[in-house]
Amino acid sequence: MSRIAYVNGRYLPHKRASVHVEDRGFQFADAAYEVIAVRGSALIDEDLHLKRLHRSLGELRIAAPMGDASLKSVFREVLRRNAIVDGALYLQISRGQAPRDFPFPQGVAPTLVVTAQRKRGPLAKQVEEGVGVITLPDIRWRRPDIKSVSLLPNLLAKQQAKEAGAFEAWLVDRDGNVTEGTSSNAWIVTAAGEVVTRQADTSILNGITRLGLIGLLAREGLKLVERPFSVAEVKAAREAFLTSSNNFVLPVVSVDGAAIGNGYPGSVVRRLRQAYEGHVAAQGAAQ
Ligand code: PMP
Repeated sequence: MSRIAYVNGRYLPHKRASVHVEDRGFQFADAAYEVIAVRGSALIDEDLHLKRLHRSLGELRIAAPMGDASLKSVFREVLRRNAIVDGALYLQISRGQAPRDFPFPQGVAPTLVVTAQRKRGPLAKQVEEGVGVITLPDIRWRRPDIKSVSLLPNLLAKQQAKEAGAFEAWLVDRDGNVTEGTSSNAWIVTAAGEVVTRQADTSILNGITRLGLIGLLAREGLKLVERPFSVAEVKAAREAFLTSSNNFVLPVVSVDGAAIGNGYPGSVVRRLRQAYEGHVAAQGAAQ
């Protein structure tokens, strides 16, 4: 079955779907995006993703291309035309197409692109055995809380992780504290059993998986602490893990080549992955 992409009002064969060379998303990364997991045909935590999208658009002063009800119809039509039951939906909204010039163009409609793909996610082996991360300086701009498509520092760090044989890079601020991963939020479980993740200020993207998991912690009888944590704390942690829409909750068992805990996924992360899978499955079942 051939893939279909939505571009500015039209459903096009994926191979022919494109934006103009002077689209500001292409020229300047002047665009916001979202990635939403799809399970059992349901868009997981869709309303939270839309809320974050509107926040990003508001911070960038990009107009929404249509109302939420219409956006949701486009999402469903893209899933339907691509026959996606388990996978991910990607959407990008740029400031639109205009002659290349830094100031915002006037009277230009935003560009909307929506695509979908079948499930990729982590491998069963990565879930069972955990993954490694390396630490790198966080060289991003100071507003990573905005989900913009200017991802160059993120992908450079991810490539370095890949070349080092690691799954992800955890980015470190000037104080030696972890901000987040290149495409995931970072968590540790301390020796005291506290679940720690950085507070969602302007230094990280407030992950929707992060938010969903926070909502489940109390029910699991776990104490959440939102604060910065250092690389030394990661090395001394009992457990570590990352969260994202692509990976849900994934155990992290080594940092810069050093084992975390006993080097195997611990009981807390295994429980939390299960709890999050329950949160996802409930939405798929409600479809
Ligand atoms: N931080 C960054 C920098 C990301 O790119 C992502 C993935 N979009 C996340 C965190 C995790 O966010 P979410 O749980 O919404 O996928």
